[in-house]
Amino acid sequence: MTPARNSAVGERAPTGAAKAASKDKKGSGSASSESSASAAKAAKPVAKASAKPESRTALVRRARRINRELAEVYPYAHPELDFENPFELLVATVLSAQTTDLRVNQTTPALFAAYPTPEDMAAADPEALEQLIRPTGFFRAKAKSLIGLSAAIRDRFGGEVPGRIEDLVSLPGVGRKTAHVVLGNAFGRPGITVDTHFGRLVRRWKWTEATDPEKVEAEICALFPKSEWTMLSHRVIFHGRRICHSRRPACGACPIAPLCPSYGEGETDPEKASKLLKYEKGGKPGQRLKPPPDYPGLPAPPLGGDA
Ligand code: SF4
Repeated sequence: MTPARNSAVGERAPTGAAKAASKDKKGSGSASSESSASAAKAAKPVAKASAKPESRTALVRRARRINRELAEVYPYAHPELDFENPFELLVATVLSAQTTDLRVNQTTPALFAAYPTPEDMAAADPEALEQLIRPTGFFRAKAKSLIGLSAAIRDRFGGEVPGRIEDLVSLPGVGRKTAHVVLGNAFGRPGITVDTHFGRLVRRWKWTEATDPEKVEAEICALFPKSEWTMLSHRVIFHGRRICHSRRPACGACPIAPLCPSYGEGETDPEKASKLLKYEKGGKPGQRLKPPPDYPGLPAPPLGGDA
């Protein structure tokens, strides 16, 4: 683990911004641009840089506090890919490379109707399969992976998606990221999913300086109890998609700004920052996220885009 150097932040109670944002998100179906804007107005950054390096203990405390704040802001955090069983989640996750979950969710209903089982997909005509998944991009390579992994599941695992990471990563086109998504969300086995959002955010928060996904995974795992790993992944990815964007993070509207050593990397003006949030106004058909079954009373905010 590599603690932050020269950019440690003091641990302070969250400001009203975090609480305001949390309340807004938990409110009725209007959680969206209005609530985000009010959170933005309340945003009062920020932790001051300290000359002293952050101790390991302080880093662990700050990381866990960020996780708790994110849990309040995104109580509905969940995998944004639609699936009904481990095979569907595995296929959807392979398709999600280099595209949005929304695009995958628009593509998979027809795909799963045509090839509901690994046996069906293993026997697919490659060109027919390619046409079905074409909207997700890289469709030739993805079709090859899907047919290959389906055949391997049929031939080596009796037609059932295996529940061990060493078996999953042995399937064509399946890396650790995909394996952890499947293990965490279809088998309930805790794991950290290091995708582009996760890696970017944990480096901004100085939880790690590593760029290699396996090193990031190991270092972040060491900061949290195992029971938090899967939900932490969802929360961080939610935050990366909605607020802490790659190019223009909405720092002025960010509920965890007081705990973030990278505050100021993006737009700090609350009004301007609130316009960068990826919550659509009013909700467009097809873009509203489904609330997960565990949170039946909490509407998820609509997603206005994905990165
Ligand atoms: S949006 Fe800004 S303040 Fe918030 S987590 Fe990202 S870099 Fe930090």
